Amino acid sequence: MKTIDDLLQEGVSGKRVFVRADLNVPLSGDTITDDGRIRAAVPTITKLAAAGAKVIVASHLGRPKGAPDPQFSLAPVAKRLGELLASSVRGEVAFATDTVGESARAAVAALADGDVVLLENLRFNPGETSKDDGERGAFADQLASLADLYVGDGFGAVHRKHASVYDLPARLPHAAGDLIATEVGVLKKLTEEVARPYAVVLGGAKVSDKLGVIDHLLSKADRILIGGGMAYTFLKAQGHEVGSSLLQEDQIPAVIEYLERAKAKGVEFVLPLDVVAADGFPDLKNPVATHPTVVPADAIPADLIGLDIGPESRKLFASKLADAATVFWNGPMGVFEHPDFAEGTRAVAQALIDSPAFTVVGGGDSAAAVRILGFDENAFGHISTGGGASLEYLEGKTLPGLAALED
Ligand code: ADP
Ligand code: MG
Repeated sequence: MKTIDDLLQEGVSGKRVFVRADLNVPLSGDTITDDGRIRAAVPTITKLAAAGAKVIVASHLGRPKGAPDPQFSLAPVAKRLGELLASSVRGEVAFATDTVGESARAAVAALADGDVVLLENLRFNPGETSKDDGERGAFADQLASLADLYVGDGFGAVHRKHASVYDLPARLPHAAGDLIATEVGVLKKLTEEVARPYAVVLGGAKVSDKLGVIDHLLSKADRILIGGGMAYTFLKAQGHEVGSSLLQEDQIPAVIEYLERAKAKGVEFVLPLDVVAADGFPDLKNPVATHPTVVPADAIPADLIGLDIGPESRKLFASKLADAATVFWNGPMGVFEHPDFAEGTRAVAQALIDSPAFTVVGGGDSAAAVRILGFDENAFGHISTGGGASLEYLEGKTLPGLAALED
């Protein structure tokens, strides 16, 4: 994969460089609630602008249906990007109100060397996400006409076969940006160049979302710790009652097969010993106290829902991470959005920080949890900007947006 430094060596001054970033941040109205992805995009943009490129930044935001939709406008992102770039780029960050129309063409034509423009949401155009190669290709042709070079830096979108991710790099000389290079380097340390013992902590809501990862990591990891909502399907598969906890009954056969395979391979599966349970799912919009109780994981009363891992489990999980050399964590240990059920997630985050291991946090909610609970992002080895993308990489899949940058 060509890097951005290779491009810089060839010279980018005066060239129009299309940067496919992932600026898909959570919004509440037009307030950005977590600007992590915008901050992660800054280094590549700054490098190109400093080298005299005319930088055209593009991204998707949310899931609009192939037509302009004001609630998914990148306008608030343009403003934030402008603030973050204020000290490092020459002019203000321009904003085009379309992607390949009049506004975009005029904004690109107006760029001086070192200037930056952000285009409007790529998904306002049906060609971006189309399953039809011709339709996607036609949109990619239009995007290609705006630029001379392509830099892929939207790690969170590389698992998508979309026009700006997959088809556009085939039409322009291309390279990987610094964020993608970093993310891929980290993923290699989780798959090819692993320091052992290698512990994987999985949580979150659904087992079905993470089956592919478990399947693949069974042949890589030394220990797999399971918390969150998915733990109850594992407990049930071991013959325990899980009360009214989240349960994916149809996944039990798969889970039983994983437990058996793990035993045969000598991979240690670690399940919660106790859980924090309540008699209903908490109201997350109005988080009042819930009077939770701690119950053994193998005897959850029928009328209770397990919503977090308990204190004994937290100690057990921390001990399994303390002597690891590599830790990958994806998925909160409980319903961390409510303070009564955030302690398991907090304990695992702290255990990662305390461990000498190379630690990686993947997954949108996990990364958000770490920040919301007030941890210092720099205390972790790496916090990935791509949930789905990193999981698919760890499943061993070929990611279209990475493959497109390779040739
Ligand atoms: P990520 O985005 O990090 O991959 P997921 O999307 O898989 O994580 O899961 C995050 C969600 O899982 C959170 O919203 C959290 O409330 C939920 N969750 C965690 N534990 C439980 C549980 N015991 N029961 C129900 N939901 C849970
Ligand atoms: Mg999620």
